[in-house]
Amino acid sequence: MRFAIATLGCKVNHYDSAIIQDRLGALGLERREFDEVADVYVINTCTVTDRADAESLKLARRARRLNPGARVLMTGCLAQANPAVLAAAPQVDRVIGLARLDDLERAALGEEGERVLVSNLRKQKAEIALGPASLAGQTRAFLKLQEGCDQFCSFCVIPFSRGSSRSVAPRRVMAALDELHQRGFKEVILTGVHLGGYGKDLSPPATLEDLLEMIAERCPIGRVRLSSIDPEELSGRIIEIVAQSDKFCPHFHLPLQAGEDQILSAMRRRYNADFYQRLIERILEAIPDAAIGTDLIVGFPGESQQQFERYVKFVEKLPLAYFHVFPYAVRTGTTAAKFGGRVSPAEITRRAQVMRQLGERKRVDFVRRFRGTRLKVLLEEPASADSLKGYSRNYIRVLVEAPVRLKNHEVEVEALATDGAALVAKLVWPAA
Ligand code: SF4
Repeated sequence: MRFAIATLGCKVNHYDSAIIQDRLGALGLERREFDEVADVYVINTCTVTDRADAESLKLARRARRLNPGARVLMTGCLAQANPAVLAAAPQVDRVIGLARLDDLERAALGEEGERVLVSNLRKQKAEIALGPASLAGQTRAFLKLQEGCDQFCSFCVIPFSRGSSRSVAPRRVMAALDELHQRGFKEVILTGVHLGGYGKDLSPPATLEDLLEMIAERCPIGRVRLSSIDPEELSGRIIEIVAQSDKFCPHFHLPLQAGEDQILSAMRRRYNADFYQRLIERILEAIPDAAIGTDLIVGFPGESQQQFERYVKFVEKLPLAYFHVFPYAVRTGTTAAKFGGRVSPAEITRRAQVMRQLGERKRVDFVRRFRGTRLKVLLEEPASADSLKGYSRNYIRVLVEAPVRLKNHEVEVEALATDGAALVAKLVWPAA
């Protein structure tokens, strides 16, 4: 039996898809590309914007066209948050919410069951499916330590779709890291929906700090990267652990979301602009070469033209390495969906463009700083017949002239020049 899987949305969804893929593979199903004929199509949906909702339905129609007799199964955030919209589509056979992997497996094997199977994840603390997962074509592995969120930022649908915060016990995390090491991974990215919420739900409670210390001491993998963490949850101790350990990559992703205190407060974020600025100055004092990235929402309800201009100026002066820009999109059920002062779609698009242009400039400026320096790069994939590309520890894309046998090895390089937002480097160690 053949299956194909399509994934929309963020890294967490991709991680979930990798787990689904592993589990269906273990049942003997053969994986196909999504544009090939298969017997089962799994669509791991996203509901971050209305566009993502529409895309999920479009994929269901595509699957049905590819094989009118296939089983079309919808899972992921949209399936969890709004199963009715998917169940109403004639192309869809089953809608199976998050944390119901056993049901998804049974549906894939053709067992009959209810058309819609969705649990209330805010009431039921479903265990996180933990499995070392690699995304297709990547040599870096992702490990999800935490799922769900209790924060309820006013613009965000995640606490509704992914349920309350729950964490993987440190013992299971360490075992998963050992397994990833045995499978040959040279880098692992510790991820979660709300990583800063790690451990509070465990009994006895654990802290992210204690877990990271354990990882610094005992993890057999040489490169460990933290994914996004909310600014107020990045403690001084975490900065210290990253600064002092040669395992942790000097890379922080700290979502700022807005540059004005009034907007941050309307978003229900728990820091102000000044706190954010001081935090990143503190990180760079401890780790001068660290890459600090962020997420920025533009066009949040009530964001005036003057506020947007101040927002751009604020971001411009921050020593950021890169950022992702998100045009504000209304999500039904969130507090912000009820806010007045909506910015017009055309203006939101314009603001996103202005911010993205600034982002490009900042990215190039950050990369330029490292011309002429030595960096450690994990080579991930061929860039040409005689070169490979990969990422430095501080998250710069680097192209290196190197033999293909060095793929999935960390090498030392000297950066010679920039190529847009990447570095071009020569191999220093090992010899070619
Ligand atoms: S902390 Fe992150 S996941 Fe949680 S509600 Fe806020 S934006 Fe959403």
